[in-house]
Amino acid sequence: MSYAKVLCVGLVGVTGHLVEVEADLAAGLPAVVISGLPDTALHEARDRVRAAVVNSGQRWPNRRITLNLLPATLPKSGSAFDLAIAAALLGGSGELPLLPLEGVVILGELGLDGTVRPVRGVLPMVAAAAQAGIARVIVPVGNAAEAAVIPGVRVRAVDSLHRLVAFVRDGAPLIEPPEATSTPAVDGPDLVDVAGQQFGRRALEVAAAGGHHVALLGPPGAGKTMLAERLPSILPELDDEAALEVTALHSVAGLLPPGGQLLRRPPFQAPHHTASVPSLVGGGSGLARPGAVSLAHRGVLFLDEAPEFSKGALEALRQPLEDGRIRLTRSGGGTVYPARTQLVLAANPCPCAQPAGDARCECSPLVRRRYLGRLSGPLLDRIDVQVQLMPVRAAELLASDGGIESSATVAARVAAARQAAATRWAGLGRRLNAEVEGPHLRRPPWRLPAGVTAELRGRLDSGSLSARGFDRVIRMAWTIADLDGRDRPDLNDVREALQLRTGETT
Ligand SMILES: [Zn+2]
Repeated sequence: MSYAKVLCVGLVGVTGHLVEVEADLAAGLPAVVISGLPDTALHEARDRVRAAVVNSGQRWPNRRITLNLLPATLPKSGSAFDLAIAAALLGGSGELPLLPLEGVVILGELGLDGTVRPVRGVLPMVAAAAQAGIARVIVPVGNAAEAAVIPGVRVRAVDSLHRLVAFVRDGAPLIEPPEATSTPAVDGPDLVDVAGQQFGRRALEVAAAGGHHVALLGPPGAGKTMLAERLPSILPELDDEAALEVTALHSVAGLLPPGGQLLRRPPFQAPHHTASVPSLVGGGSGLARPGAVSLAHRGVLFLDEAPEFSKGALEALRQPLEDGRIRLTRSGGGTVYPARTQLVLAANPCPCAQPAGDARCECSPLVRRRYLGRLSGPLLDRIDVQVQLMPVRAAELLASDGGIESSATVAARVAAARQAAATRWAGLGRRLNAEVEGPHLRRPPWRLPAGVTAELRGRLDSGSLSARGFDRVIRMAWTIADLDGRDRPDLNDVREALQLRTGETT
């Protein structure tokens, strides 16, 4: 027999596609030809596979070897094809009877010594195999736990090519995946730790309930980071579909925690202001790594000291925030990763980081305006909630001792408010107030009575509120009404929303 075929999975973005690895061995000058749109990593696969086969004590066929990866139109990246290529090649040369591998998907990178190394993206690969009706997969031992997360697939693992060969030839056992650990995920920080800061807490709750992006402006010590870190704790847990998406993205990034569980908490990403554009939005050679904006998918992206980020970095975030996904253009075709995230941006009022009006601040009004102005174009325009926070005073800390609400209490109100919004906007195909376009809010049946919006319209006419700002205030007013369990915003809701927009706490 001089032909063999083995199943594998290729990833495009976070979507897996079944790939057939064919090997044909013919008489002629010894050579290895790989076809089927391979990238550089696949060419390197040729050298890895050869060394691994020889160092596993197998005979390397001195024939003309053609390897073909189907479908040819599918772009293929990464090193997960190595093990399937080795198996197909040994099958084609007659060294291995491949019957035990029929209908089995095989994933893994080979080391030169024949060890099988873990690869990124195993979870979405196994999910794709399951969806295609595959019942059995063989994965690197380092990926066994994450592969076992996918129900309905029998997962076995290998640590070396030698083990795979022994299994196929003699029925030697493969490695069982570890039992899924049932230890609950470590609890993140809780709102119960945030004393005082009533305005900041309220802003966070409204943001969580309506899905609004948030800007927290204030001097150091105002608790901006404390608040931002606690936003995930008041968001609903991820449902099955979202959990699978989020876990798949972390799998592709090679950042899954050990234990083999779906990620159920909304993720929190806080890239440093010196972060490169690729680390923010994704990139790299081979299988592109998702960036912070994708790792924060269905969760929170926190930009601390936002004006300190480079202009290019802030600009690069504009498109994913608008579209909910990021397109990475690459030589081998584009990759698209989901990036539907809630942005929290924190900034000092001016570059010297002193409170507004502080005598130590010598920055001119122009300097201060320019500093925040760096955010205005790309990001600030999309942010509904913009609040000014003041440092918490000792009196406030002591006064609020006891009676501080925990994240669980706030999360319950947030969940109820989100349910109300999802029901209301179902006809528009929207779930969150932040997703509803301005025209819908300004037209019947959702237009608010003139009496409720009089003050807003006054500000619009005088130019102190932009048309966009008007829509954003109305959106937040809906969220505030939802949190209060009322079916329409009233005058007080609009006033509070205006405070959350302008930062005026009067
Ligand atoms: Zn200053």
